[in-house]
Amino acid sequence: MTPETQIKVPEDYKKKLPRDVAIALETCVRCGLCTESCHYYKSNPKSDFIPAYRAEVFRRILRKKDYSEKSLGAMSDIAFSNCTLCRRCVMTCPLGVDTGLLMREARGLAVASGTAPEILVQLADTAISRGEDIEIFREMFLENIKALEEEVRQLTGDPQAVIPVDKKGADILFVALSGAHSIIPPSILFHYAKANWTLSFFEASNYGVLIGDKDRAKRIVQRIVDEAKRLGVKEIVVGECGHAYNTLRWEAPKWFDGGFPFRVRSIIEVMAHLIQEGRLPLDKSANPEPVIYHDACNLTRNGGLLEEPRIVLRAAVKDYREMSPNRDDSYCCGGGGGIIAVPEWDSKRMEAGKPKAEQIKATGAKVVIVACDNCRIQINDLNEHYKLGINIGGITETVVKAILKAVKGS
Ligand code: SF4
Ligand code: SF4
Repeated sequence: MTPETQIKVPEDYKKKLPRDVAIALETCVRCGLCTESCHYYKSNPKSDFIPAYRAEVFRRILRKKDYSEKSLGAMSDIAFSNCTLCRRCVMTCPLGVDTGLLMREARGLAVASGTAPEILVQLADTAISRGEDIEIFREMFLENIKALEEEVRQLTGDPQAVIPVDKKGADILFVALSGAHSIIPPSILFHYAKANWTLSFFEASNYGVLIGDKDRAKRIVQRIVDEAKRLGVKEIVVGECGHAYNTLRWEAPKWFDGGFPFRVRSIIEVMAHLIQEGRLPLDKSANPEPVIYHDACNLTRNGGLLEEPRIVLRAAVKDYREMSPNRDDSYCCGGGGGIIAVPEWDSKRMEAGKPKAEQIKATGAKVVIVACDNCRIQINDLNEHYKLGINIGGITETVVKAILKAVKGS
């Protein structure tokens, strides 16, 4: 295959574009107002990193129907490694052009043409196959959860503490990520909140969304929806994952006729609600150091959780401070959109994270709280790369420290 070889992609790709994407493609007047808003451009002001340039590459391919290996490969590289889909540029565009949305659509074309990074497609397919036959991994999963349950019992000092799985009639289906750090703190939180909950067999992350493949994205969500319906829960609570929250809360209900028969909340919203109702014992002295919060793009700008994390942290830590800019104007940490799963892009990822590293440094805070696992990995790496000398913690873990201090004094 030569760079000029034409790749077979769905002929009517442009016709199939959703209306909002088609409008965004045609609306940009190349005014450049969005340029400075992009963290890639801010850390390295070269033309490749201008948001409108990325969209133009995609637009040219569709207009000219240039489906050559070379053009699609270049588009794929731009869409996957030069854009984290953070949508900060959308906030500055006077015409509301959504470059993040366009880049996700470009990712979809890359997947359809076989030019997308294989590892990301594989991650989506692995999640789908896990949903096809739960029995294969059921025993191993339950064994792992038993071990985590033991830790919860030790930490709470309560031999009756449990991590329920597959519990029919639970109010909450909690969807975590893989790893003890994503399961133990919420289990302790639910224990003290006396919640009627159960843990999902599936992980919250959705690589189908990240690769812009709606079919894969829906199949990944379908596993959780089926589980929620089978157990008859009233709501799904999503753990600390930005894109999973944004997907399950805002996007996925539109993919299913009639939406979801249950509500979807983030664990941050659950904690804010419990705190406002005075239902959590909290001792702030468990978290005495100055703390700042990183607004993950998919939780804040794209997910709408602007005040909830602040309600939570002001109640759980002694000295809460803000980064600047913050909330929906916050800079992306540089690790979103799946870039973190591709090792070849590590140095680009560190460069793109420079504005976030500078924001953190400027506050002088020694603890950064993050409520998205992707951002947590990225900020850990930024800490090392830029020698920030900070500690990084999860928001549920921070609340749980304050609960345990209030209840047990430690
Ligand atoms: S969505 Fe984010 S990363 Fe992508 S072009 Fe806009 S500001 Fe840059
Ligand atoms: S995306 Fe919007 S702000 Fe950016 S160049 Fe186009 S019209 Fe201007």
